[in-house]
Amino acid sequence: MEKIAIFPGSFDPFTIGHESIVMRALPLFDKIIVMLGLNHSKKYFFPIEARQQMIEDLFHDEPKIKVETHNGLTIDFCKKHGATYILRGLRTAADFEYERAIAQVNKKMHPAIETVFLLTMPEHTPVNSSVVRDILLHRGDASLFLPLKLDIKNYLRYENE
Ligand code: ADP
Repeated sequence: MEKIAIFPGSFDPFTIGHESIVMRALPLFDKIIVMLGLNHSKKYFFPIEARQQMIEDLFHDEPKIKVETHNGLTIDFCKKHGATYILRGLRTAADFEYERAIAQVNKKMHPAIETVFLLTMPEHTPVNSSVVRDILLHRGDASLFLPLKLDIKNYLRYENE
């Protein structure tokens, strides 16, 4: 059976931390689907199309990685795609507590699906999308926290420009 993992998140934007998790998980699975969750009550910095495009561009040469959007429960997306793994990254104890509850509830409801956690690389511990958004909002240089191959300017649309 094909080992398919879902990597769910908002990826607003996709950071060097996210990229590292996907690349390190790649040898573990036959296919990884990066799942952009749609949450209509959340206000995003990058529109969904821009986020999908930046991740697709980044993994353009990697046929094992796909990018999809989804409005609903991650678990339903897993079933639809025959995925039996959910991939998540862990940075801090706070991440752990948050992830633990979700993973345990998912496991209780859907025993066939395993959540797999990768610990962040030490240098990526402080990297998170909201800090990157803040830098970009004030037109600063966030390149240290973004994938090397990603030219974020291509996905940015500032108002009043
Ligand atoms: P969410 O809004 O669901 O937290 P994110 O886009 O922030 O989605 O993150 C998606 C996944 O990537 C989560 O598992 C998160 O813990 C992980 N992640 C985010 N930043 C990092 C990082 N710097 N290092 C490792 N994992 C990370």
